[in-house]
This record gives sequence, structure tokens and C-alpha cells, in this order.
Amino acid sequence: MIKKLLVTATRSPLFAQFVTVLERLQPERAGTLRILTYHRVAPVDAQPYLSPVLLSATPEGFEEQMRHLAAHYTPVSMSDLLDYYQNGTRLPKRAVMVTFDDAYCDFAEHAFPIMQRHGIPATLFVPTAYPDQPERFFWWDRLYHALMETRAPALPTGAGILPLETAEQRALAFKVLRGYVKTIPHVTALEWLDEVYEQLGAPPPVHYVLGWDALRQLHQQGVVMGAHTRTHPMIHRITLDEAREEAVGAYDDLRAALGDVPPIFAYPSGGLSDEVVQMLGEAGFALAFTTFKGINTLKTADPLRLRRFNVGRLAAMGLIRAQLLPYAIAPKWS
Ligand SMILES: [Zn+2]
Repeated sequence: MIKKLLVTATRSPLFAQFVTVLERLQPERAGTLRILTYHRVAPVDAQPYLSPVLLSATPEGFEEQMRHLAAHYTPVSMSDLLDYYQNGTRLPKRAVMVTFDDAYCDFAEHAFPIMQRHGIPATLFVPTAYPDQPERFFWWDRLYHALMETRAPALPTGAGILPLETAEQRALAFKVLRGYVKTIPHVTALEWLDEVYEQLGAPPPVHYVLGWDALRQLHQQGVVMGAHTRTHPMIHRITLDEAREEAVGAYDDLRAALGDVPPIFAYPSGGLSDEVVQMLGEAGFALAFTTFKGINTLKTADPLRLRRFNVGRLAAMGLIRAQLLPYAIAPKWS
């Protein structure tokens, strides 16, 4: 209830005015870097078979956000950041970087052309087991699709029966089961999902990840590609050997397909541990990106634990602007 009120408040003109005042007062701190994370940019319901949770913005909303970044911040590229760490080349004031995770097809269709128009460099973190594998789906899209398409009135689970008769019940079931999957080992989750699919008798979902030809073309157009594991497990929930295989394997896949790829990594679903961070460093990764919110102060930030702001489901422009300010005025849950 309170969350709902706060969401409404961030959409009000008064909140936008308040943020504008703070933006004007903003001190020009050098040596800081804001990094944004996006997943999907598409019209609402353009892909009704995919989980709506990862829809960051509509093309119109994204255009507004990129225009704001270009006007009020200095967009920097991944090479700028690598240059800072490798050669000490300072980043400009109000540096901001835009990253995309998961390599959904709409990055090429909607997001990248808008970024090009505004001169904003793009980085795309690719889970390399998915391109050109039409039978492979992200578990959250598979779960969503199964729950939306089933004709079963309910799903029996270990913790009770989840009714699936109304849209609200299906949405609630998705929320509950999504939370559950994140608490169990990756392999167990995939097996469990197979069982759910059988129980619900749902049709197969639609593949919506960029193929290698499209990735190659984007790479040639200047998009920096980074590793996001191969199969997208929460990397601290698998063994360290498996984690190394997932991270280094993805980097090798990218290099084999694209040639020149920097040693950068994004943690799937933000899962990490001290052991995983150390392993990435030893494996030669120079930068790694988390889902912890916050502005990076480069002097003190760990390059293998860089913070990013996730642009949540259709977040209001005022909220995004507020998060980028050097004051903690954005609600913590956002
Ligand atoms: Zn991801």
C-alpha cells in the first residue's frame, strides 16, 4: 500500500519539480560513475509471452530517459572505464554508463537505435548459451508463459495449492514461484520447472534472444559485449568450478564469435559471493557489475563489485532522475 503511494508520488509533477531543484543544486563531484541497468525496451504487451517484470521502458520512455542523460550527464563507454583502471585516464564529471543484460531481441530493434541517436555508448551482457538456441528459454519467461497459457485451474506445490483461475491469481502465483526459484539451486530449479510445465500442459514459449549474426552486427556498430555466464545461473548457488566454467566459458564464446571482447562480466540476477569475486579476478576479469544500487566513487570502488541502478518495470522518469542524484532521496525499494 505504502509502496503504491510512493510509486504514485514519483509520477507527480511536484516530485519532478523537487528533483529539478536538487539537480540544479547538485555538486559537481569528479571521480564518480553512475551505471544504469536495463533489460527490455518494447511497447507494453508487444511480447505477451515474456515476463513483464523485465520490461524496463517503452521506446518512448527510453527515448525520454536517454535524452535526459545526454543533456544532464556525460555518457561514457566501457573503454573509458577500462582506461581509467588500466591507465588512470580520468572520467569526465557526471559520468554515466548504460548497460543492458540478457540480450533480448528488442535491444537491437528499439534500444540501440535510440542510444545511437543520442550518442550514448552501449554495453550488452550476453548469456552465451541462448543465441541461436530456439529451444532454450530463460527460466522466468518459461515460468510466466506456463502460468499464463495453462488451462489448469490450479497448481499443486509442496507448500499448498496455487489457484490459477483469474489473472490476479496467475500473477500472484508467478510472483510466489519466482521468489521460490531464486532460493533453490539452479539445476534443481530447471528440473522443477520441467515438472511444472508437464503439470500445467502449457505450449512451448517463444524464443526472443538475439542470434550470433545480430550480435556480430551490433558489435561492428560499436556495442561492447560482455560475459553474463552461459546459462544464467545465480553464480553463487553453483560450485566454484561450475562458476568458473560459466564465466570464462561465456567470455571464450564471445571471443570466438566476435573477436575483440573486453574481460568484463555481469552477475546474473545479482548473485555473488567473496569466492566468486576472487575467482573472477584470478580468471582475468577486469570489471564486474552487480545489481547493488548506488553511485560508484571510483577511488574506493571495487572494480569487480561495481554498483548499478536497475531501471525497474516502467519506472517513472522522476524516480530515475532522483536515483541519479548524489542524495539518498529515492525510496530504497525502487
Ligand atoms: Zn541477466
